[in-house]
Amino acid sequence: MNQARETLRQFIERESHYLWGRRYLLSVKYRDGKPSVELDHKRIALSVRPGSDQIKRAAVLHEWHKKLLHAAVPPLIAKWEKKLGVTVTGYFLQRMKTKWGGCNHRVAHIRLNTELVKKPKDLLEYVIVHEMTHLHEPTHSDRFIAILDQHYPSWHEARAELNDLPLAAETWKG
Ligand SMILES: [Zn+2]
Repeated sequence: MNQARETLRQFIERESHYLWGRRYLLSVKYRDGKPSVELDHKRIALSVRPGSDQIKRAAVLHEWHKKLLHAAVPPLIAKWEKKLGVTVTGYFLQRMKTKWGGCNHRVAHIRLNTELVKKPKDLLEYVIVHEMTHLHEPTHSDRFIAILDQHYPSWHEARAELNDLPLAAETWKG
């Protein structure tokens, strides 16, 4: 699954950041103590040590994104292991410049792009279903499409939405 690169963010006060498909404003507080991120209905409140530069601020937010994904992904994998009758032996969260996900069907590993935390959750689910379907069928063959049609008939819409979103201008191939 392919995506275009995100526009560069500076991780500064009042900058827009997306989470699960919703737009939030970033607030940045500098204070001593362990860096933290909190979410309310409007804001992502980032707290970092005084002097933390853009790279550090980005890293704190990225760790938070991974934490959110590690909470969201395993229940979805478990749900689809039952539905699809496959077993995932491991999943990996990665920054990927051009793909939403990947699958190593020989060892039953799937990879997920950490940028998915910024998309609506049903798109994360779609990418998981897509990659897990590769455990039945490594290529995008008619058989692959037939399995998706049977288990996730709205895949056309999900794929179109991933391709339409600003961060995903390229044609999906994943
Ligand atoms: Zn694929």
